[in-house]
Amino acid sequence: MEEEFKKLRNVGNNFLKIKCKNCGNEQIIYSKISSTVTCSICGSVIAKPTGATLATSGELIEKVKL
Ligand SMILES: [Zn+2]
Repeated sequence: MEEEFKKLRNVGNNFLKIKCKNCGNEQIIYSKISSTVTCSICGSVIAKPTGATLATSGELIEKVKL
């Protein structure tokens, strides 16, 4: 089954808290990824790079200031 990915806009250079749609795990990823990111709990792909930004199959919870 193909996951639906949506592009995140205006995320800049930030760390993003993404909620996995599959298991509900909240994971922090960088906005400028160069390869796909998988959920550390269930292993589903939660983000992939798309040009200048990223696309996620999960939900953006917040931008994280470190
Ligand atoms: Zn998960």
